[in-house]
Amino acid sequence: MTGTNDLGVFGLAVMGANLARNAARNGYKVAVFNRNTARTKALIEEHGHEGALEGAESIERFVASLVKPRAIILMVKAGKPVDEVMAELAPHLDQGDILIDAGNSLFNDTERRSREMAGKGLRFVGMGVSGGEEGALNGPSIMPGGDAEAFGRIEPFVMKMAAKVDGEPCCAHIGPGGAGHYVKMVHNGIEYADMQLIAETYDLLKSVYGMEAWAIADVFAGWQKGPLNSYLIDITIEVLRKIDDATGKALVDVILDEAEQKGTGRWTAQSALELGVPITAITEAVFARGLSGRREQRQAASGLYEDVKTATRAPDEAALADLQAALYASKIVAYAQGFEQLAGASKAYDWNLDLGTLAKIWRGGCIIRAGFLDRIREVYRDARSEHLLLTDYFAKEIARSVPGWRRVVALAVETGTPVPAFGSCLAYFDGIRRARGPANLLQGQRDYFGAHTYRRLDRDGSFHTRWGQDGSEISA
Ligand code: NDP
Repeated sequence: MTGTNDLGVFGLAVMGANLARNAARNGYKVAVFNRNTARTKALIEEHGHEGALEGAESIERFVASLVKPRAIILMVKAGKPVDEVMAELAPHLDQGDILIDAGNSLFNDTERRSREMAGKGLRFVGMGVSGGEEGALNGPSIMPGGDAEAFGRIEPFVMKMAAKVDGEPCCAHIGPGGAGHYVKMVHNGIEYADMQLIAETYDLLKSVYGMEAWAIADVFAGWQKGPLNSYLIDITIEVLRKIDDATGKALVDVILDEAEQKGTGRWTAQSALELGVPITAITEAVFARGLSGRREQRQAASGLYEDVKTATRAPDEAALADLQAALYASKIVAYAQGFEQLAGASKAYDWNLDLGTLAKIWRGGCIIRAGFLDRIREVYRDARSEHLLLTDYFAKEIARSVPGWRRVVALAVETGTPVPAFGSCLAYFDGIRRARGPANLLQGQRDYFGAHTYRRLDRDGSFHTRWGQDGSEISA
């Protein structure tokens, strides 16, 4: 039996409900289903008038109401629930039907699910969606991965539902298997780093310069006119300006300083470690959230160790310019690292990712949207290198920012203000810009205790020194 609905959405919490509304508002006939039927009823009651939304109370009716080959978006909690929902749906599906997992699934799970579905003659698309609640409704950045034929079937509606920048949809077929979810994962990792860098800037303005939240908001607002312009700074300004009704204080001053996380930042760091790509900014951002969560330890330690004694002072223009430079340069490093990870994963998994296209589809709809991504897209159009720090444009941008960046990190160290992301970005930059680093000594040490061998600058081959014997060198 075939139905008439163009698309199904399974899972109607905030993201699923808004994606369904987005599709309906774009003229599609959408069947909606949720395990707990109260959500289905609420969606139809509150938003049924926005377009052709049809609520189903059983999986059978939901599936039967869809046009064939069926396309069903799953927007349920990531992890086991996705497998459970797929197992529930599979017996009701026909060959060629497509399940689209639009949640934040781990890319290896997506690879596995693609294989399992293919074994049943069903098709699977692992689709990253970014933009939060508002993006899902008004146009997110959409990163579908999976077989190209399945993408062809869903392309018209995902292109319509996606955000648009300069008339171009923020959506593209990313690559096979788990490529879409991988790219979404690294997007989130970059988001962690970007947020951490903004938080460190806030901390310096607050702790070193003694500024109030509203005044810090004004500083960020001034920067919105320059290359830092972004959605994340935009919402930072709003958060800093919000007054708490209960206390009359800035809301940010009464929010508990413990950051939570759902896993995508950690997964990004884990994958980078496996691939051997140094993404220091993202990893430090994940660790910083971890340390924030150890509030009891922090409180105990704050009584144990004396604070660094420095008088707070108002920042002059030069100090603010330094902070702006530090934030900008560190942001370039964080994005450069994220894109290098994507390039590394693309090679390792044979995904043939188009980095310029990724920058393009992140310009709108998603959490890291920013004019800055336009520059990255342009750079990748004619770049000789995949590494942003090795491109002419960003090399010039970094060079202009370096003096201020160093002063900011020095100030943080002097005043005992932790800046793990600023500091690690600068250390990474200093590491990459040196043709010869200190790893020669590491190789010597490794050869000493483990006979791991070393290579020489002046001759080809591998060598070992008989450290504990006669000290002679042999070819290994
Ligand atoms: P949640 O992640 O909170 O998931 C809740 C939904 O999952 C509900 O519809 C719930 O149904 C359903 N669900 C949970 N377990 C099961 C199960 N075993 N069987 C059937 N249904 C189940 O919802 P969100 O809308 O926040 O997110 C959905 C997905 O989108 C997640 O993967 C999330 O990581 C991702 N995402 C979220 C963003 C956000 O800003 N919130 C942004 C981008 C992606 P019930 O009502 O019956 O409990």
